[in-house]
Amino acid sequence: MQYYSTNGKAPIADLEKAVVKGLAEDRGLYMPQEIKRLPKVFFDNIQDMKFQDIAYNVASAFFGEDVDGDALQDLVYDTLSFDCPVVKVTDSIYSLELFHGPTLAFKDVGARFMARLLGYFLRKGGNSDKTVNVLVATSGDTGSAVANGFLGVEGIHVYVLYPKGKVSPIQECQFTTLGKNITAIEVDGVFDDCQALVKSAFMDEELNQHMKLTSANSINVARFLPQAFYYFNAYARMKQQGLADNLVMCVPSGNFGNICAALFGHAMGLPVKRFIAANNANDIFFKYLQTGKYEPKPSVQTLANAMDVGDPSNFARILNLYSENGQLTDVATHHRITNLISGATYSDEQIRATMRQCFEQTKYVLDPHGACGYQALADGLLPGEVGVFCETAHPAKFKEKVDDILGIDVEIPARLRAFMEGEKQSVAMSKDFADFKQYLLKQ
Ligand SMILES: *Cc1c(COP(=O)(O)O)cnc(C)c1O
Repeated sequence: MQYYSTNGKAPIADLEKAVVKGLAEDRGLYMPQEIKRLPKVFFDNIQDMKFQDIAYNVASAFFGEDVDGDALQDLVYDTLSFDCPVVKVTDSIYSLELFHGPTLAFKDVGARFMARLLGYFLRKGGNSDKTVNVLVATSGDTGSAVANGFLGVEGIHVYVLYPKGKVSPIQECQFTTLGKNITAIEVDGVFDDCQALVKSAFMDEELNQHMKLTSANSINVARFLPQAFYYFNAYARMKQQGLADNLVMCVPSGNFGNICAALFGHAMGLPVKRFIAANNANDIFFKYLQTGKYEPKPSVQTLANAMDVGDPSNFARILNLYSENGQLTDVATHHRITNLISGATYSDEQIRATMRQCFEQTKYVLDPHGACGYQALADGLLPGEVGVFCETAHPAKFKEKVDDILGIDVEIPARLRAFMEGEKQSVAMSKDFADFKQYLLKQ
């Protein structure tokens, strides 16, 4: 498969280049030149297939030309060593629990898949001369998923940059206690400073000559595309119960990688009626749907902090999916988008009220991100529709908040507790790029 850049000024790349580089030369995002539709017989039988087999079919359509069949099957099976069940919350609302991976975050799937795919390309030899260095800035969840996904993968070193004192203790121990090929860098600053350091590093010529750098955010095709597996599986599990005819999928969104993967699934033929992008108070996409104008702005801090994004990277991919002849900003593109996707936005106060109400009425414990998804369905479902929202994080990952809002004591799963027993190791760093660069040049 060939990949083009959303900015249209970079050479076409193959999968290996798109994954190793992450971002195109013109700073655009890579998009596959073709999205294959899956055959009718696949959808006719999907309800009888298990998660791994569904995912392998989807992966073959995306990556089959570039990865040998057996290797791809191993890669998919090895990535998906956990389940993603759909749980009934009310008669018409179901929770797609994406938090059963190793770090209890939906980002585990993309991180593990990307690590294995990079490992595959490195083993094949093309890139064996130099270690690939993954730089990732995190406010919590991305760092833990990426660090755990890449742990022990030969030929790759991961640097996780996180803001000192601004990451929850549970999240911090998930990437500071691993050792091996994972280095945690504690930056004396805020998340934006971490992100700025990573961006400056990618643009620094001397540094790029010294070492091979790539990103593992959802800008990387190998990070976001595998999330499409989730939506096919959710459809299958709903169809199994005879509930898939009028399906609405609702995705709590920040950088829009997850919903973008769902939309790729739709383009491959997944019979979902429509989508809802649920936002917290960071409502840039919501406003775009209303007005047709995309106006990024600085993010504001909310309870659902993994969705605090003021300029969602994957918006460019959504525009490209629904534009014709490169007409990204015309009325027809906006119209195609609003026909399929609607939006919702919730304040912290509304998130708290939703979590309380849902718990009182159903006993289901929502985390603040999932709460946006649940509420968007409660507000937006039409008669006859059945809604599935993504519960994107285990409530224990936001334990202090959830306990406080619901007055309960969320149990911490054993897997999470195990991280908390490890010893924290990190490198202290100022927010000055000169210091970070000196540090990397010595590695
Ligand atoms: C990353 C994340 C999101 C947002 O996903 P995007 O792909 O950035 O839209 C939502 N909820 C949780 C818990 C996350 O970690």
